[in-house]
Amino acid sequence: MISTYTQSHNNTGKMKLSRLIRILLSGAVAASLGLALIQSGTLRGQTQNGRTPGNTTRPTSKTMTERRPLESLKSSNPRTVATRNLQLQSELKWMFGGKPQRGWYLYAPLVQSLIGTDQGADTTGFAAALSRWQLKQGLQASGILDEESLYAMVGHWQSLRIRDRNYPQPDQLVTGSLEDFYDQSRPEELRQVHLEAYTAYKQMILAAKADPLVGPTLADDAKYLKIISSFRSREYQEKLRRESPNAGRAGLAVNSPHFTGRALDIYVGGEPVETKDSNRSIQIQTPVYLWLTRNAHRFGFRPYFYEPWHWEYVR
Ligand SMILES: [Zn+2]
Repeated sequence: MISTYTQSHNNTGKMKLSRLIRILLSGAVAASLGLALIQSGTLRGQTQNGRTPGNTTRPTSKTMTERRPLESLKSSNPRTVATRNLQLQSELKWMFGGKPQRGWYLYAPLVQSLIGTDQGADTTGFAAALSRWQLKQGLQASGILDEESLYAMVGHWQSLRIRDRNYPQPDQLVTGSLEDFYDQSRPEELRQVHLEAYTAYKQMILAAKADPLVGPTLADDAKYLKIISSFRSREYQEKLRRESPNAGRAGLAVNSPHFTGRALDIYVGGEPVETKDSNRSIQIQTPVYLWLTRNAHRFGFRPYFYEPWHWEYVR
């Protein structure tokens, strides 16, 4: 029953240094990328309108040099950008929770939801949606999901999580019914949930069951979206920590959001609460997880990006 809280990477200070310049530059780069996308789709039409290949102006080495500070030209070919994203998706080196991470493919569904596209990393549509998001964030709108953009996304997801870790008032806790739990023998004292979170959870489950995209999956496997763990007392968390001394910083938190009763671990497939990349790669592909990334916020639930099963009620 792993739960976690890890400090977000905060690049705010770094961003402020050149924020104005970035905003100015990224506008130009976004325009460049957008133009390139448009051109790639309409080149034939332009030729028909009288522009022969012979009078198409190609960038000279001089203009390449002049524009290099934007780092945009090499990225402005939409196919090149898509190829780069495909590569970074599995290879980008970054740090989280004091541990080196590789790639961002495990967060692709959350990224797609954040930037508002359902297209994969290897598409120009993904790059275009990303560049629009980058522009809004004051980042260079390269359309490339690099380290800086990834940290900005992680910072965003982390900023939406539960901040205070106070216990709920006793009258705010209810005992969830056994049918909502993954472990059908889970004792009453481990089935306590904050009333508001439990109400929202029940509404979310009803909506999922009624959704043709995920309803059949829920009917086929009754374990999906069941609650694995909800409210945990500090004493119980300490017991878990003693039992798993190697869980580490990204593992069992000293100051867990589960203390509030508003954090729920929900079954999304694979091993229920196992952070190995191989397990998470199974979880992030299940229809229920994809559904959560697109719909959970409507019910007040926000993800802990690193653990596909951990959702926090923050409304
Ligand atoms: Zn959790």
